Amino acid sequence: MSIALLFPILLGWVAGLFINYVSDVLPLTRRFSQPVCIQCGNHLAWTDYLTLRACRVCGKKRSLRTWLVQIFAVASFVYFWLVPSKALGIPLGMIVLIYFGIIIVIDLEHRLILHPTSLVGAVLGLLVGTLIHSRADGLLVGIGKSLLGGLFGSGVMFLLYQFGTLVARLRARKMQAAGQAEDEEEALGGGDVYLAGVLGLMLGWPFIWDALIIGVLLGGAVSFLFLLALVVRRRYTVDALMTFIPYGPYFIISAFYKLFL
Ligand SMILES: [Zn+2]
Repeated sequence: MSIALLFPILLGWVAGLFINYVSDVLPLTRRFSQPVCIQCGNHLAWTDYLTLRACRVCGKKRSLRTWLVQIFAVASFVYFWLVPSKALGIPLGMIVLIYFGIIIVIDLEHRLILHPTSLVGAVLGLLVGTLIHSRADGLLVGIGKSLLGGLFGSGVMFLLYQFGTLVARLRARKMQAAGQAEDEEEALGGGDVYLAGVLGLMLGWPFIWDALIIGVLLGGAVSFLFLLALVVRRRYTVDALMTFIPYGPYFIISAFYKLFL
């Protein structure tokens, strides 16, 4: 191993700490607060938190996710250090990796896409999209293509979201008629609209098209397999058809594919 690899390893480790920290505090307090133990609520000292120590009060160890994020962050930083993204280069590529990491962890754990992360993403997205497209077409066209991508991505998802809301409303009416209590199931989260906008800015027009199609197909395929598993195990109900599809991670995967591979 070359000694030069120590640099991306170290950077990746620090990036992992940052992803973990943001994913730990932002969904709970909506600001950059002092981290607390998830079991007893004890405020963790920064030195303990950043060295991944267990809670000193109740002994609760750090989550599996914490370690997985550290490992994935180091591995991806080393990989894209050796094989940089042609579209982004090394520094911007690392920032985008950190951003994707935060969005995926929070979306998987809380089914949430937060407004502050969408806002930061919009700025980052416009920067990335403009950079990618202005290389060939000049700055103004680059900005235009980035904005058009953002508008298209969020527009398409907004229409899908409206459709999902309509389905949910019809379903609620049917359940009411059947005397069942309503639930709060959403076919497609509003946060996905913002996320599709951010990724649209990042990829720009027309690449957002491919990313949306890949994302929806990927999400659909996984949901289909899930449904199939339910059928095989004879647990199939009509309700399973309506199960929430978290598109966020699939969109990130397809955007990641387009930007990095
Ligand atoms: Zn504790």
